[in-house]
Amino acid sequence: MSLLTVQQLGKSYNNQNKVLQNVNFEVDAGEFISIIGPSGAGKSTLLRCINRMVDIDEGAVIFDGADVGTLNKKELRKLRTDIGMVFQHYNLVPRLSVIENVLHGRFGYKTTLQGVMGRFTEEEKERAFFLLEKLGIVEHAYKRCDQLSGGQQQRVGIARALIQEPKIVLCDEPIASLDPNASKIIMDHLKSITMELGITCIVNLHQVEVARDYSDRIIGLRQGQVVFDDVSHRLTLER
Ligand code: ADP
Ligand code: ADP
Repeated sequence: MSLLTVQQLGKSYNNQNKVLQNVNFEVDAGEFISIIGPSGAGKSTLLRCINRMVDIDEGAVIFDGADVGTLNKKELRKLRTDIGMVFQHYNLVPRLSVIENVLHGRFGYKTTLQGVMGRFTEEEKERAFFLLEKLGIVEHAYKRCDQLSGGQQQRVGIARALIQEPKIVLCDEPIASLDPNASKIIMDHLKSITMELGITCIVNLHQVEVARDYSDRIIGLRQGQVVFDDVSHRLTLER
């Protein structure tokens, strides 16, 4: 059984034009997939449907056997633990330290803003340091996030997404704000750490070359529809 099935998914905002239309694909555990397409193609919306940040209008998203569109509050919390998110603008709390940002990924910021290191178990702290070590930023653990470069902040974002031991990580344009050098570092880390931990990964990208270099498979979206879905090397660069 696949980890994720998207079936005839349709989505519009405010009953306007459909931004996703009859989208179908399946994702097996362990895959590293890029979703490419021009700005406005519906890439972000697709990720938001998968973790139910937005309601699903038509069709279904089945994640790990559960119909995402019909989950109750408690089941949604479980879904969001199973799905890690990485964002273009990192979405860190700037005045908190790196290690606090990572650990808060486990519980959400709202309930833990008062939190201190003492709130977390040794095991949780160990995992946080393990991830920072893997991502090459453990020496920055006690610095405030706003003192780090963009590439370093995005590595914090990846650690925060992985602290909760998700089954899948969804990355929405994770390198769109980074220079080519930092972008390469982020993609290298994303690929190696998800592979090592056995975590499935879907990455929204607008650079076709990056998608080809890193992913096993590419899904191309255009105006809300899938126009390509195949192993990466079959994508020709002129599209
Ligand atoms: P990006 O694609 O880089 O995330 P966007 O400009 O598409 O940036 O979106 C930024 C924010 O604005 C998102 O939260 C998105 O949901 C929202 N947004 C995008 N387009 C619209 C729109 N037409 N009407 C209202 N909100 C929008
Ligand atoms: P992409 O990630 O490929 O740039 P998006 O999913 O952000 O595409 O946007 C797809 C379309 O949906 C765009 O036309 C955008 O303006 C619109 N859109 C995105 N978010 C919102 C929103 N919150 N409200 C209204 N329209 C939105």
